Amino acid sequence: GLSPPLSTDGSNVKVVVRVRPLLPREKGSPLLVQMDPSTQCTTINPPSSKPTGSSDNQAKRNLEPKKFYFDRAFYSVDPNSPHYVDQQEIYNTVGKEFLDHNLEGYHTCIFAYGQTGSGKSYTMMGDDENAGIIPRTCRDLFNRIDSLASENMSCTVRLSYFEIYNECVRDLLATQKKGGSGGANVNNKSAKLKVRESPTDGPYIEDLSEYVVKSSDQVLEYMALGNKCRSTAATKMNDQSSRSHAVFTLTVKQVHFHSDTDTTEEKVSQIRLVDLAGSERANSTGAMGERLREGSNINKSLTTLGRVIAALSVPSSLTNARPIVPYRDSVLTWILKESLGGNSKTAMVACVSPTDYEETLSTLRYADQAK
Ligand code: ADP
Repeated sequence: GLSPPLSTDGSNVKVVVRVRPLLPREKGSPLLVQMDPSTQCTTINPPSSKPTGSSDNQAKRNLEPKKFYFDRAFYSVDPNSPHYVDQQEIYNTVGKEFLDHNLEGYHTCIFAYGQTGSGKSYTMMGDDENAGIIPRTCRDLFNRIDSLASENMSCTVRLSYFEIYNECVRDLLATQKKGGSGGANVNNKSAKLKVRESPTDGPYIEDLSEYVVKSSDQVLEYMALGNKCRSTAATKMNDQSSRSHAVFTLTVKQVHFHSDTDTTEEKVSQIRLVDLAGSERANSTGAMGERLREGSNINKSLTTLGRVIAALSVPSSLTNARPIVPYRDSVLTWILKESLGGNSKTAMVACVSPTDYEETLSTLRYADQAK
């Protein structure tokens, strides 16, 4: 990739936007999103339609292109464009430098936000030919560990995977308590877990399964098992639409032995990689009843996340001006408290479709207020 990593000096929060290519079913649809690589400006143009009442100012305003500025605008529409940004470049920019921070002992968190079908899973997981941020992070992590390991340094990696669905936490890798052989033998029907708070380490999930992993392949096996467990419910918009937030966590523990002083030093850090539920509003998918309640709970976590990130993105030099961070207002932000605040670093990848005006505008606005 050509672009340098995102500098995380000053604010600990970065917000980037990625526009995906047209899908086969969208072929021929107009491209409404433009990105200018020199200014990182993202422009969204309304679909061309004549204003009904030409003297109506509101209608005129609605027809004007809207511009947004983020830390980075990733153009992934046309592979033939010189500005095309691929998975490797996204990882180099958003994921790679976070590992340095992790190995120094700090927490990091990367979110993918956007409507269903906007490219969140592609960005986080990717597909067989085009690995996303999660597999690349795992590969890089184990390579880094191998190169660091010595007789004076040992490193262990533990993994957990849970989802938040309707403000309830479910283990995606729960071991069978009875009759199971343990290990990777996971049970689909896991119970709701409780969030507790430790006076030293902050909020945590009681009884969440954790596995020690020794290679990136092993991580990906667990990931695949967990993905099978994710709650999906048919909505009118997309049968596979995932209505839950999936939080994948790698906990890295380094033990350094200092032979000169005969002491050991421990560093523990967490890497959180989060595929958020689709951001589409409940009413736009024709949801009713249970689906609607689900929708408002999803929005509660997403709205709170936006407010938390906005509060945190005020540079630390201005801490006096920093608003109160509303971690406790949703399960997602409460669990992620230690991964979002303090010395941790956060990146939000806002994924958008190039053709869906309403949803893309709403995602750009969300990302804009989170900046
Ligand atoms: P989401 O997780 O937001 O619901 P997906 O990641 O499943 O969306 O993306 C929807 C479809 O678009 C998938 O078929 C995916 O492969 C494709 N897609 C998304 N982003 C890209 C991209 N940057 N390049 C190529 N295909 C993409």
